[in-house]
Amino acid sequence: MNLKLKKIPLSVKILVGMLLGVSFGLIAINTGLVEFTSNWISPFGTVFIKLLKLIAIPLILVSLIKGISDLKDKASLSKMGFSTIALYMLTTVIAISIGLSLAYLIKPGDYFPKDKQEALFEKYSESISEGQNMVASSESDSPIQFFVDIVPENIFFSASNNTMMLQVIFFSILFGLAIITLPRDKTKAVRKFVNSLNDIVLRIIEIIMKFAPIGVFALLASVITDVAGENPADSAALFGALGMYALVVIVGLLGVGAIIYPIFAALFSKMSYFKFLKGIFPAQLLAFSTSSSAATLPVTKKCVDENLGVDDEVSSFVLPIGATINMDGTSLYQAVAAVFIAQVFGIDLSFNDMLTIVLTATLASIGSAAVPGAGMIMLLIVLASVNIPAEGLALIFAIDRPLDMLRTTVNVTGDSLISVIINKFVSKQKKI
Ligand code: ASP
Repeated sequence: MNLKLKKIPLSVKILVGMLLGVSFGLIAINTGLVEFTSNWISPFGTVFIKLLKLIAIPLILVSLIKGISDLKDKASLSKMGFSTIALYMLTTVIAISIGLSLAYLIKPGDYFPKDKQEALFEKYSESISEGQNMVASSESDSPIQFFVDIVPENIFFSASNNTMMLQVIFFSILFGLAIITLPRDKTKAVRKFVNSLNDIVLRIIEIIMKFAPIGVFALLASVITDVAGENPADSAALFGALGMYALVVIVGLLGVGAIIYPIFAALFSKMSYFKFLKGIFPAQLLAFSTSSSAATLPVTKKCVDENLGVDDEVSSFVLPIGATINMDGTSLYQAVAAVFIAQVFGIDLSFNDMLTIVLTATLASIGSAAVPGAGMIMLLIVLASVNIPAEGLALIFAIDRPLDMLRTTVNVTGDSLISVIINKFVSKQKKI
């Protein structure tokens, strides 16, 4: 029996966990088990996410240092870096343009019942001022503050904080660069040590993933009870009011996942898109359940390495950077949300405003932490750039979590696809 259970693929076990979680959540809201779920079930989900986050920083540190030190020379690193960033930017701008066009054409704001507006403002005003404070505290006058923020002044401090992943990436690249530019015999001991640390980190991920089906069960059960809230009928009515907005986001995300990515896969990777999707399916399921690209990162790496044959030196470079700066789903959502809110407020957006949204949504998605709800907070920057009142965030608050689950799935799919493409570039170069 135990042997048979072991043979079931991880994605099937996760899927079963998710389905049971949704069923349990639905039963809970209809039988008064909401409090029971939040006291006894959701802690298992929290523990699972904590475990994944726990291993994210060690994974970035070790696998990036190992990956870079396995590279031939400095030139390979800069080529890989340049193509990675270029592809990430390209897919982000395409995603935003799709979001803008759909929202502009379908006009979801026209479907929003105006009588709901006041109640929503009242309900979410507190959360919005919290978000505004967060954005304000990270704002600075310099337009290149982004570069200042990437550079750590104390690696132990940065590595002790999951929101400073870019700083950890910076240090790992520097460390790896030092290794490849030194004579090999001087770095032998460190290379050996890092290699075996890498194996240990990967084994820890395997151990954590044994807990995945229970983790996703708990996460989905609590998402259902949280979203339904105290009054499921009220929440259902609210979802109805935001239905057209949600639909536009979903259609946009599907467009990216089912049209744009397959085109990229065909043009640049020559890998069948079906094979690609099959390979990263467990990571997609996890992205959907956790709403966090950072928490999903260990599994994303495992999937692209083991199922899609991406070299460790590529995935360890491309994926951590992608999880932090490449968010196609988030940027698309930010574009749709900005236009939707403008439409509800009766604000006309000019062509210049649209261009501003392309620019700020690119920056805002880069700046969004890879954790649940971050994209919505960074939306405030997009709104401010085209003079849409921040209160507008209240309109979309209620439905953010389910949309976050979907956009995170697209974010992780995008990172994985670019890693496959870069792998193809790199292996071509090796052959030359
Ligand atoms: N949850 C998203 C991610 O981690 C970010 C966001 O859109 O809120 O990829």
